[in-house]
Amino acid sequence: MSGRHREHRSGCEVLKYLGVIGHPLKRSLSPVFQQAALDHMRLDIVYEAWPTPPDGLQTRITTLRSPTVLGANVTIPHKEAVIAMVDHVDDLAARIGAVNTIVNQGGRLAGHNTDVSGLMRSLTKDGGFEPKGKRVVVAGAGGAARAAAAGLLEARAASVTVINRTLARANRLVEDLRPYADRSELRALPGMYASWAAVMSACDLLLNCTSAGSAGFDSESPIPFDLIRSGMLVCDLIYDPAETALMAEARNRGARTLGGLPMLVYQGAASFELWTGEKAPLDVMFEAARSLVEAGAAKGKK
Ligand code: NAP
Repeated sequence: MSGRHREHRSGCEVLKYLGVIGHPLKRSLSPVFQQAALDHMRLDIVYEAWPTPPDGLQTRITTLRSPTVLGANVTIPHKEAVIAMVDHVDDLAARIGAVNTIVNQGGRLAGHNTDVSGLMRSLTKDGGFEPKGKRVVVAGAGGAARAAAAGLLEARAASVTVINRTLARANRLVEDLRPYADRSELRALPGMYASWAAVMSACDLLLNCTSAGSAGFDSESPIPFDLIRSGMLVCDLIYDPAETALMAEARNRGARTLGGLPMLVYQGAASFELWTGEKAPLDVMFEAARSLVEAGAAKGKK
């Protein structure tokens, strides 16, 4: 925490703090759109970037117990490790095995996961997609894929097929979430062309939950573009760039597309509401996040 003070409406007093914990945190949009929301609501809270390497994580989490800290967002690569460092984890975060939001409740730290509600809200509201009874292919098996699979099973998708470069990780995801599959079909496949070909012809929603395609990430998408059909919604969780190569290919092939920015803003809005108890100003958050991505594009960062 910077220990900054600023002029409070009723005088000069110590600010409250929020922040995002991750490593290396080069391109996080959260400080910008969260601060825009806090300022819009006239809350005397500063939202900071708290870059934290793995060997500094325990110390960082301890600082969250301070009375001046309201909580934090947690991002790559710490969402799983923080579970053992907080005092309570809600059911959903425990099921997924990942915490992206910590709330300081008088020195006691509570862990939550708002990625699930963020993604589901973006699919229905921005993607016009109702998951119930639909066939979904999830690319990737990390924290984002776990949140996606948990949300889709909860929403009663007909099938969720997880395809990942590392099959063992996809198998772990499937076994962990199997108890929550109810009547949905849940399976893992290796990231080979034959796997993709077997499921893409009957896919309603393709979700990219891998990091491949993000700005500065020097690697091609593992998804075979030639198997994308016009009838599917292609959703990329990546928000920088606003349109990934996968989304551009899907658009060219007549498929509907959805980027990761709405999910990012909705998960952030849910965190904001947990910390402040106030309704998040979504329009303000969207405008700030979009401006930053567009400014990055204009600078030719991507
Ligand atoms: P993670 O836990 O590190 O998982 C990364 C996943 O990507 C793994 O399945 C990994 O496969 C796969 N992968 C990485 N490089 C690959 C490559 N070159 N080829 C094929 N697969 C590759 O990360 P995460 O937390 O799940 O996040 C994944 C992405 O989602 C990130 O880009 C993140 O920014 C984005 N995200 C967006 C939001 C949002 O609000 N829009 C929220 C959360 C995450 P292996 O298992 O084989 O390593």
